[in-house]
Amino acid sequence: MEFIQRLSSIADTDLTVNQPMSVYTGYGVGGNAKAFVKAYTVQALKDVIEVARVHGEKYKILGNGTNVLVSDKGYDGVIITIKGLNSIFRCDDSVTALAGASLCKVIKFACQNHLYGGQPLSGIPASVGGATVMNAGAFGVCMADFVKSVTTLKNGTFFRYDNKSCEFGYRTSRFLLGKEPIISVNFKFYTDPKYKEYDLLTDCSRQRKLHQPEGRSCGCVFKNPTGDYAGRLIDTAGLKGLSVGGARVSHKHGNFILADKNATASDVFNLVNQIKSQVYNKFGVMLKEEIEFLGEF
Ligand SMILES: Cc1cc2nc3c(=O)[nH]c(=O)nc-3n(C[C@H](O)[C@H](O)[C@H](O)COP(=O)(O)OP(=O)(O)OC[C@H]3O[C@@H](n4cnc5c(N)ncnc54)[C@H](O)[C@@H]3O)c2cc1C
Repeated sequence: MEFIQRLSSIADTDLTVNQPMSVYTGYGVGGNAKAFVKAYTVQALKDVIEVARVHGEKYKILGNGTNVLVSDKGYDGVIITIKGLNSIFRCDDSVTALAGASLCKVIKFACQNHLYGGQPLSGIPASVGGATVMNAGAFGVCMADFVKSVTTLKNGTFFRYDNKSCEFGYRTSRFLLGKEPIISVNFKFYTDPKYKEYDLLTDCSRQRKLHQPEGRSCGCVFKNPTGDYAGRLIDTAGLKGLSVGGARVSHKHGNFILADKNATASDVFNLVNQIKSQVYNKFGVMLKEEIEFLGEF
């Protein structure tokens, strides 16, 4: 197949054909990607995208895979991971991280450099790119509070967005459209030591342990509807513990679906739909997914 041959000839990449995506996603389910490429340089990323474009193949950037449910039928295109692009550096009072860096490491690095405030986000198991796309948030703060600018690849060249032009909203940004790979993010944290004294890191981790289940998940499945909590609606509807195949609603947190070893992506997908229709029938509220479906369902 010419497409695969072209991919395999790109420097600074590792290519796997028919890669099971269960290995790379939070739920640990899902079929194979036609091609899976680890791109270690920006040039390699550009080349992979260009080959996909020329051959009319779809592509998708994957971060840590903690917000994506891949179909059991897999993904008929190329999944690109840039986790190798993970440098983090300080410049004056800001921190810049490449998109493949772990968000948690960025926040630790910032604190070590006396730049504070991001600690509540440190428990999110995200890459910097994935967290920026979703405008991930926790404990009252979100990425938008700390992102100064985002650099993407736009039509093959670097393009920088300031905070306002990122169009951040509740678990969304302009980057959700998926057309521009994020290459790096420049963060502005606080220099005021009062943000250190909050000792937020420890308290937020304790809250997570108390309220969130362990196991294979993508965190919260649904966005909170205005003025309410999806978890509260699911709980009040009596849906904790509801299961489809190997997927079940967590007893600890109604907005988490846990996938056991025998679960399939269809189990998770069908459970999501059952929750939506039962919550709608009880409360007239149509929940919207925070997680993203990839491939055909
Ligand atoms: C235990 C657990 C707890 C969680 N807690 C929270 C929480 O408190 N708050 C919260 O908001 N979320 C939470 N999540 C959900 C998830 O971690 C976040 O949505 C996170 O931002 C996803 O990051 P990721 O790197 O895994 O992205 P992925 O799931 O890999 O990708 C998400 C989207 O971003 C795109 N993307 C990724 N990288 C790039 C890039 N470089 N360029 C362009 N597009 C890119 C992907 O194509 C996809 O569309 C939790 C998940 C788990 C499993």
